[in-house]
This record gives sequence, structure tokens and C-alpha cells, in this order.
Amino acid sequence: MMRLDVVTIFPEYLDPLRHALLGKAIEQGILSVGVHDLRDWAHDVHKSVDDTPYGGGPGMVMKPEVWGPALDDVAAGVAGVELESSLPHLEKPVDTVESSYEAGERDERPLLIVPTPAGKPFTQADAREWSHEEHIVFACGRYEGIDQRVIVDAERRYRVREVSIGDYVLIGGEVAVLVIAEAVVRLIPGVLGNRRSHEEDSFSDGLLEGPSYTKPRTWRGLDVPEVLFSGNHARVDRWRRDQALLRTQAVRPELLADVDLSPADRKVLGLE
Ligand code: SAM
Repeated sequence: MMRLDVVTIFPEYLDPLRHALLGKAIEQGILSVGVHDLRDWAHDVHKSVDDTPYGGGPGMVMKPEVWGPALDDVAAGVAGVELESSLPHLEKPVDTVESSYEAGERDERPLLIVPTPAGKPFTQADAREWSHEEHIVFACGRYEGIDQRVIVDAERRYRVREVSIGDYVLIGGEVAVLVIAEAVVRLIPGVLGNRRSHEEDSFSDGLLEGPSYTKPRTWRGLDVPEVLFSGNHARVDRWRRDQALLRTQAVRPELLADVDLSPADRKVLGLE
């Protein structure tokens, strides 16, 4: 069972986590999600969570006296509002699928993810690693972000990761949390029906995935590539690999530097 807690000033932004496969994971007892309104920890009459930046400049910065106690309480297990699956409730829960992760010597502190454009880029490798976590807490910034001392102080109770979902600036961390949570949760055993579907995804072998096709064989004058009807698995696999190589070379050539290329791969790429 994985537990996600999200601290935000817009709890309703996290509603998509109740739907589709994540909703099903909640229904099956694989996942539980608590959403916390940061303003519950604000003490003045206006419930303010931000203040002007030291050193001047535009915008506002989120206050440490609000964030600090909020993260203390969530680390200590304060539940917040529990998200219920949007799916029709099942008569009885499906057997919970336990993570296949073998716990070695573990740091018991929960993982705190702080989305920020100034963080390390979030990757599929992070998603894979974090899919083994038991408890992940997300801190959603707004305005110009959170007072940096909150992040430093949080290290006492959490393993902290500041991560960016891309080289652009969003208004708040909530959408980044949706992105990260979806990428992580789909990798928990039992969430996707077919395990192979994520083993063959883009990035899993360092390459982007090539094109996919379904019925009908001809649509608006466009044919599905002939090789896919050959029934020859080796030829189909080779064709898929070639398509992945060529797409990666065209769209993300820098990824090829980390891929083991066979002589056949190099030939397809025109490297020999
Ligand atoms: N002043 C900040 C900077 O330039 O680094 C930008 C703050 S942004 C307007 C407000 C919040 O949106 C951030 O605290 C973060 O939670 C979220 N955010 C914006 N862009 C993001 C990105 N690329 N990845 C992750 N979170 C992002």
C-alpha cells in the first residue's frame, strides 16, 4: 500500500487523483491519498500563507511558520481529507497487491517531494524508484515559492527532493504533483493490468517508443505497415526497435549517447 499526502492551498486541484486507474488503485487498497489545506495551519484572521520577499522584488513568498507545522503534522500522520475513488464502489475490495520491493536497511523518514522549476528534472528513473515508497508527501508551492528554510528544516523529518517537471514555469505545484503521482503510481505492481505495457514504454530501454497501430488495417487511405502482419515476432521486434531508434534520433538525439547500440542498430541509424 502506498500513501500519498498532498499539502496545498487548492485541495480541489487534486481531484483528478480519484479518477481512472488511480481511482481504481484507491478502490483496490493499493493506494490511499490524503489532501491537506495549508490554510488549516494559518493563524491570522485572513488565513494568510504568504508574505513579501526579503531583499525586495516582485511576488510573495510562502511563510515558514505555516509550512513548518503543516509538514510536522503530516509527517506525524495527520490524515487530512481522504480522497475517495470516483469509481462505483466494489462489494468487497480486491486482494491488495503488496509491493514486490524487498526492504533492506531503510531510512524510515517519508519522502517529501517539493515541485519547483529550480529542482532536478523528474525522470522515469525517479518514477521507478519512488514506486517502491510507502509514504510520499508533496508540498505544493504557489506565488514565488516556499521560504527555503522550510526545505532545510524538513530534512529532519523527511528525505527531501526538489524536482522540476520541465523547463517552463507553472503557476503552482499542484499540476506537477498530478504528473509525478501518475507516473509513480502506474508503476506500482497491480495498477496496470499488463506489466509489459510499462516495461516497453518510452525511456524504459533508453529509447522513445515508435508508432503503434490498431484496426482497421486501412484507414482514410493510410495503411498499417506490412511487417506487423508477418506473424514473424523477430521481424516485428526488429522493426519496432528500428522505429524507436529512428524516432529517438529525430526527436531526442542526445538520449542515444546512453543506449547500448548493436551493429544492427548502428546501421539503421546510419552510423556505419
Ligand atoms: N519563482 C520560482 C522560480 O522562478 O523558480 C517560480 C515559482 S512558480 C510561479 C510557483 C510554483 O509552481 C512553484 O513553487 C512550484 O510549486 C510550481 N512550479 C512551477 N513550475 C514548475 C515546474 N517546472 N516543475 C515543478 N513545479 C513547478
